[in-house]
Amino acid sequence: MKNVVLLGSTGSIGRSTVKVAEDLPDQIRLLGFAAGNNSELLLEQTRKHKPAVISINDPAKAAELRAALGTSCEVYSGNEGLLKLATLPAADIVLIAIVGTAGLQPALAAIRAGKDIAVASKEILVMAGEIVMNEARKHGVRVLAVDSEHSAIFQCLDGKPGSSVRKLWLTASGGPFRDKIAWPKEKFSEITVERALKHPSWVMGQKVTIDSATLFNKGLEMIEARWLFDIEMARVGVVVHPQSIVHSMVEFVDGSLIAQLSTPDMCLPIQYALTYPERAASDRVQTNFPKLGMLTFEEPDVERFPALELARRTGEIGGTLPAVLNAANEVAVEAFVNRKINFPQITETVRRTMNAHKVVLHPTLEQILEADSWARHTTVI
Ligand code: MG
Repeated sequence: MKNVVLLGSTGSIGRSTVKVAEDLPDQIRLLGFAAGNNSELLLEQTRKHKPAVISINDPAKAAELRAALGTSCEVYSGNEGLLKLATLPAADIVLIAIVGTAGLQPALAAIRAGKDIAVASKEILVMAGEIVMNEARKHGVRVLAVDSEHSAIFQCLDGKPGSSVRKLWLTASGGPFRDKIAWPKEKFSEITVERALKHPSWVMGQKVTIDSATLFNKGLEMIEARWLFDIEMARVGVVVHPQSIVHSMVEFVDGSLIAQLSTPDMCLPIQYALTYPERAASDRVQTNFPKLGMLTFEEPDVERFPALELARRTGEIGGTLPAVLNAANEVAVEAFVNRKINFPQITETVRRTMNAHKVVLHPTLEQILEADSWARHTTVI
């Protein structure tokens, strides 16, 4: 039985995690939930799964939950609540699926308390990959990836050392604007928010869906992979694969390529992270191989999607620059969703902010958080 704390239980990944736990009642116990704002769903999840501790961002909502739940469960709020949950003595693993940078401190707290962490929030490894991985090594805990691509690479590597790897290949769906004929570069300024939110193969949260359309999502994933698998950026490649069946692959030094495949469903990487090193039987994900028909691959179009090269350079330089890229992108995506800037201006805005930043190499956590807040104030729309 794995005792799981779930930070971000009401979001897209959080809800899938609850489904996985419901599939495997003898193997996964949900010990704690934290949510941002959705107290109705948190209440429903709590009544059903009876976790020992829950937390919600707003203290007023926490008081309402306390009144509704009585003494059946401890209720906390804010960052204090997240830290409380991340370090619960009975927890084996903490799955962090909070949007934004709020997951960073709880991730480090969990590691220092000797917990394995499963990371769905990209910010954690993008901003502080060096610190997080060093701390995990120091405390002898695992950092497991929930992202489908990183889970795929982890499964393909199967414990092989970096010296046996020639290259890691992240697959990218290419997003809704992959088709060069339908969406030439000149038409990018006409892209509406509604259109950008229609992802061809994955159903995800709003921020990550826009990031998939700009390819910033893949850029952030390259930086994550660099830290998670301790490999230099030059050995992290991206290939566009519109069907999203091959979730990623590893090219070994002998030229052999191992890929991980399935129909796209986030429940699979979530379940793998929570049951690792075992594989638990589940009927949820079914892949009819003969019916897949054609799997295609193509070079990413760096002309139309400059975010990819911007992220590669960011990962090569490192230091505080990935935190700046991440923060500027968050601000720019919000501005796009609120119709203040057009689609190409997302990447342009991020580039402008990055150019104005003085990079600190091998930063402390404080310097990373400073760079993050600097970028949020400096990013001009
Ligand atoms: Mg992904």
